[in-house]
Amino acid sequence: MTNLRIPGPTPCPPEVLTAMGRQMINHRGGEFQKTVLGVTEKLKRLLLTQNDVFLLTGSGTGGLEAAVVNSLSPGDKVLAVSVGVFGDRLSNIAKTFGADVTVLKTEWGKAADPSAIKAALDNDPAIKAVMVTHNETSTGITNDLQAISETIKPFDKLLIVDAISSIGSIALPIDEWGIDVMVTGTQKSWMVPPGMAMVAISEKAWRANAAAKMPRFYWDFAKAKKYLANGGQTPWTPAVSVVFALDVSLSMMLDEGLDNIIARHIKLGNMTRAGVKALGLKLFADEAYASNTVTAVLGSDGLDPKTLNKIMREEYDIVLSGGQMDLEGKIFRIGHLGWVNEKDVEAVLSALKEALPKAGFTGGK
Ligand SMILES: *Cc1c(COP(=O)(O)O)cnc(C)c1O
Repeated sequence: MTNLRIPGPTPCPPEVLTAMGRQMINHRGGEFQKTVLGVTEKLKRLLLTQNDVFLLTGSGTGGLEAAVVNSLSPGDKVLAVSVGVFGDRLSNIAKTFGADVTVLKTEWGKAADPSAIKAALDNDPAIKAVMVTHNETSTGITNDLQAISETIKPFDKLLIVDAISSIGSIALPIDEWGIDVMVTGTQKSWMVPPGMAMVAISEKAWRANAAAKMPRFYWDFAKAKKYLANGGQTPWTPAVSVVFALDVSLSMMLDEGLDNIIARHIKLGNMTRAGVKALGLKLFADEAYASNTVTAVLGSDGLDPKTLNKIMREEYDIVLSGGQMDLEGKIFRIGHLGWVNEKDVEAVLSALKEALPKAGFTGGK
């Protein structure tokens, strides 16, 4: 079987794939409504939140757009904290819908600096919301979201978080850290095929929602709330198969236990980083903030990451990711989130050992 080691979509357990293949049922019928309510309850337990949680049919980016248009009005000042491709994407969504966005950028491979966020907020009291990527999948950085949320707290801003590739694998207690709008997606930590975004919305976010004037029709949290309250429905036809799959994966995750899942990802992250360094490779991301769901590795010492990924795919049946945007051809990335264990990472490391010299790498020994 192909060892799919990209940061989403991740491989899915066989039980989840079986659920995906189930016959359709009426999405407005009692059985499906019960499933939606059950999935929502299980999600709340894994997201550590009492906030409203909704299933939105669309990819993670759809969830990000929903977060923006449900929270803001055109002209609202927003601080977009960006440490890579996905931070830039979120800031571009807000710009597209007319927000007045200040982008606080960090050199790629570094984490966001809470003191720079504080300075930006001190500098412009009119800022309404702060947008942060928890885990920047393009660079392999996990921002210190707890420190960031502590920094923002006294300013009483709306905190919108892209947690698409973190929550469910990396600790993010939504209520404890005061996250107002959290967005994740099924194909990352949740071991489910792509198709749905999941969002959690705080009381403060609902107050913002009531005043938010950005245009929205499909992505409307108020409609989602109304339909969910009506016995467990969604405003539009949902990705029924993905809901079936999520139902199964969430039970598997609750059986494993959130703490155990997080510990597994810490172990796999450490193992991946130690392994690539032992091969003589260099990590792209500042190791103090290195992600436990994705590792970015520099194309150093003659290594051509594109050639490496081709060899890994063709000769070892291991699929890795390349770099995005400015990082194309400069790094390769190893995904280690979701349905993944030590053997999967060991297989990557032992194949790399053989493949690296064939891809021009002269480092290590
Ligand atoms: C994958 C990812 C996205 C985009 O999700 P899609 O499902 O591809 O739309 C956004 N942000 C982060 C951090 C991601 O990892």
